[in-house]
Amino acid sequence: MAAQPGTIKRLDEVVVNRIAAGEVIQRPANALKEMIENSLDAKSSNIQVTVKQGGLKLLQIQDNGTGIRKEDMDIVCERFTTSKLQKFEDLNSIATYGFRGEALASISHVAHVTITTKTTDSKCAFKGSYVDGKLKEPVKPCAGNVGTQITVEDLFYNISTRRKAFKSPSEEHSKIAEVVSRYAVHNCNVGFTLKKQGENTADVRTPAKSSHVDNIRTIYGPSIAKELLEVEHEDKKLSFSCHGYVTNANYSMKKCIFLLFINHRLVDSSSLRKALDSVYQAYLPKNMHPFIYLSIEIAPQNIDVNVHPTKHEVHFLHEDAIISSIQAAIETKLLGANSSRTYYTQALLPGAPVSLDSKEEDPSSSKSSGTGAEKTYAHHMVRTDSREQKLDAFVKPVPSSSSADRTIQPIRSDSAQPMETSTSDQTMQMPSCGVQQKKRPVKLTSILSLQEEVQESMHKNLREMFQFHKFVGCVNKEFSLMQHQTKLYLVNTTKLSRELFYQLMIFDFGNYGILRLSEPAPIYDLALLALDLEESGWAEADGPKTDLAQYIVDFLKSKAEMLSDYFSMELDEDGNLCTLPLLLDHYIPNMEGLPMFVLRLATEVNWDKEKECFHTFCKETSEFYCFKPSMFQDLQSETEGSKDGEVSEEKTWKWTVEHTLFSAFRNFLFPPKTFAEDSSILQIANLPDLYKVFERC
Ligand code: ADP
Ligand code: MG
Repeated sequence: MAAQPGTIKRLDEVVVNRIAAGEVIQRPANALKEMIENSLDAKSSNIQVTVKQGGLKLLQIQDNGTGIRKEDMDIVCERFTTSKLQKFEDLNSIATYGFRGEALASISHVAHVTITTKTTDSKCAFKGSYVDGKLKEPVKPCAGNVGTQITVEDLFYNISTRRKAFKSPSEEHSKIAEVVSRYAVHNCNVGFTLKKQGENTADVRTPAKSSHVDNIRTIYGPSIAKELLEVEHEDKKLSFSCHGYVTNANYSMKKCIFLLFINHRLVDSSSLRKALDSVYQAYLPKNMHPFIYLSIEIAPQNIDVNVHPTKHEVHFLHEDAIISSIQAAIETKLLGANSSRTYYTQALLPGAPVSLDSKEEDPSSSKSSGTGAEKTYAHHMVRTDSREQKLDAFVKPVPSSSSADRTIQPIRSDSAQPMETSTSDQTMQMPSCGVQQKKRPVKLTSILSLQEEVQESMHKNLREMFQFHKFVGCVNKEFSLMQHQTKLYLVNTTKLSRELFYQLMIFDFGNYGILRLSEPAPIYDLALLALDLEESGWAEADGPKTDLAQYIVDFLKSKAEMLSDYFSMELDEDGNLCTLPLLLDHYIPNMEGLPMFVLRLATEVNWDKEKECFHTFCKETSEFYCFKPSMFQDLQSETEGSKDGEVSEEKTWKWTVEHTLFSAFRNFLFPPKTFAEDSSILQIANLPDLYKVFERC
């Protein structure tokens, strides 16, 4: 007997949607790409991504874009809902990234999605949680800044096979980092940050209003950035244009890095990749490849925009002709650049007027076709290997903190200690708190605007100098020497570290780690100590010191909740200070400054206005944290000469300056423009000039 056919049944709608969603969202990085594109569509200038376990546990994106209207909150996560397309013909002229209204819907079918959003017109933010495309319960009003925060938790919680297929969160994390990096290079006007939840340092961080090259340098490294050629090419016949940066023949690496955007969408085209790689075969050693960032704009009617979201790979009309045309443009560029094989850009003097700043971005002036004028002579070459000798090579760095006066311990235990701190008599307390807490997004307008102020006053050339500096050595606790390209600079470590700690306060606001004092310090005693110092400016007319000290205790206790919540400063019932914020791993402020710090918190911080309060609070903290000569120790060592203890004390602070502070200057500092003029940084020698002197001898 013939087998009977099975009955055909309609699949449950939820199941259908889930299957479809699983196709669109294949891994955390796909979901993130869609969300970044939504944020860009919403005209954001700052996008912050926070992830946990490669995005599988948590994938959060916060932007400062237009936000979503409350009325739309009900349906944003349904399939085929979009604010970007109404008619089919609109597909031809679509300028925004998303147009199918499928991304959020798909994500909500395979993860727990929460959206918090505020438009400029709305008085408050609204929050909604979604399952399978639908709101779980009516949206609720809440506090928040203009923009949108989307939290995606437990991706693929309902597709166990998919979930199990992810073996390594770190692989997913690097895919995510790749997506963020690429969008950051392409959208250099937008600031991007990628952080692992609970970590202080960002994996990717670019400022808003940067340039493509700056971002390539920040993300892919100086060795690539300094060998870039700008490519600009237009072909009217084929109705396309392209712009980008490619490495010259000096640079090569084992694996090709290819960043391709077509009409501002991150895509891949293996035919274009192969074609461009083959151009380099004539110039690079065998099996070596270039770095290529290319943004192509093709007339929308020539490109199939209705590609399925999973189709990363694109195809376009006249593909072969367009590819040959780009190949030729790059080849010409490589040939032209050949005569200037090693070419180093001359850095502007830090003292040069800030207006000379923008080296690129002016398309008319950026035709760096590698003419003879840029030829490099031997004396322009600089030492670039940091393993080479520094001043300190003569004093072997075996830092050990034998300084008995160190009274506090970092609580964070998530990174290895670079110094072997001999702390047998001090126990690490509560090693996990501070690390596990959830990273809180900053929503306070006051803080965001302080952040913006820092970014806006950044001096681009100084930023670059610090990113690519070589640390030379410490002159003393106040000054250090560093080299950038052919120049030697005297840097005011104290001033720079003051600015650094201010910026760390502002940018990690509400998320600092915790430094626990080995014994709670009575604020009353600290205040009395401070009032005894001349710099406190205490005068008889101010009243008895004991009254003032008591006032300070009461005052700070009245702010205890805020101090602990925002600033990681815990006060106990008895008016003791128990913790301080941990701003930089392995950095502990000099406790000598603690009494004045406590006094000034009560007297110098403007507690009445929010922004002013945060600004002055962070300034006071940075004054306390900044690295400066110690009043007492230095006098001592001057009179007593150096003993064993001081030799190791010296090694310790030098180690801190080089490895903690200067490395933070490199990674985090946005040097303000004022530094170029106020002698915070002074050029003291220029190698080519020295050569001239020697030639005459
Ligand atoms: P599409 O981008 O194709 O329209 P999505 O599912 O990605 O579809 O998004 C649905 C809608 O949700 C968008 O059209 C937009 O109106 C809104 N939206 C999503 N993310 C954001 C965001 N970050 N800011 C503002 N609106 C957003
Ligand atoms: Mg979209």
